[in-house]
Amino acid sequence: MQFIDLNAQQKRIRKEIEKRIGKVLDHGRYIMGPEIAELENQLAEYVGVPFAVGVGSGTDALCMALLAHDIRPNDVIFTTPFTFIATAEVVRLLGATPVFVDIQSDTFNLDPTLLDAAVRETRSRGNLNPRGIIAVDLFGQAADYDDIHRVARAHGLFVVEDAAQSFGGSYKGRMAGSLASVACTSFFPAKPLGGYGDGGMVFTEDPALHESLVSIRVHGAGTDKYHNIRIGINGRLDTLQAAILLAKMSVFKEEIEMRQMVAERYADGLKGLVTLPRIKAHNVSAWAQYSVLHPDRDRIVAALRDEGIPTAIYYPIPLHLQEAFACLGHRSGDFPISERIASEIFSLPMHPYLSAGDQDRIVDAVRRCG
Ligand SMILES: *Cc1c(COP(=O)(O)O)cnc(C)c1O
Repeated sequence: MQFIDLNAQQKRIRKEIEKRIGKVLDHGRYIMGPEIAELENQLAEYVGVPFAVGVGSGTDALCMALLAHDIRPNDVIFTTPFTFIATAEVVRLLGATPVFVDIQSDTFNLDPTLLDAAVRETRSRGNLNPRGIIAVDLFGQAADYDDIHRVARAHGLFVVEDAAQSFGGSYKGRMAGSLASVACTSFFPAKPLGGYGDGGMVFTEDPALHESLVSIRVHGAGTDKYHNIRIGINGRLDTLQAAILLAKMSVFKEEIEMRQMVAERYADGLKGLVTLPRIKAHNVSAWAQYSVLHPDRDRIVAALRDEGIPTAIYYPIPLHLQEAFACLGHRSGDFPISERIASEIFSLPMHPYLSAGDQDRIVDAVRRCG
């Protein structure tokens, strides 16, 4: 049994993938070939925003979103400590300061009430300049955007949606990737829409931000790449990855529904055995991960391993306790909900092609731990 089985999907669409790759080999435009614009247009339409910019990774997407907002030292970005390192890493990379805000214990997403308090406190200290918020749609479920935008408006902050895990999901009928003025997603192979290498996309409704992003993607290009009007990066998506993703989009909508069925089967089988993920009624999760809680997590994970059932822990160390952020001076106890969740959470195998039989095996193995 595999944690994420990428081969089942490949078997299904291998011909289409080979055809798409063959086309790129024929035209030879490996950098910014026609597949880039084709994918950007298709995903912008899918998400429901006017602009999409294909980029090298989800991390580049986040970095570019901050560069497009001209983030600099002394600026503060508010975000969750219970996420992948990239979310806060890019803030530090640009010399700005991440200020962490604890999460809701049921959705694992940024708590908007605590967010408001954190912005007030940072403002009252007066030495740093609050600029923006990066909200993360953890495990595929959108954060509470109405409340987050309310706080953002009250304090004049911009919002970036980290939709690396939620592409394909939705919030109040609107697709992930359209829930903030800039949204970032990732095509890392294990994400809901995964390529065969690194890749990502930035979405925006704002023509000015779009223009900045397109320039930042190619070293801050002005009229051409040898005329540079700002500091940018080499942030391009590869043509070959775009071609592969176009092939994968042919089954993506159906795969999101298949993930839904897998999640429902888990919920039926695991009820009462572990704390199940809570998806709010207005959300559709993209189910990047199926993550559950148990106070005796390590024992269950070990028992499953003995039965050949792979699990993963996202995330064992909240970001405020990572060595990389030692400069922020945090201590254990600073974000108690993130710390407790980190000690109790584990993720079960989750992909669209997970069979009911394998799921029964997993559920039975968890039950035997009880
Ligand atoms: C995967 C991920 C990223 C980074 O994406 P890459 O494509 O690996 O650079 C950022 N944020 C979150 C929440 C992620 O899960």
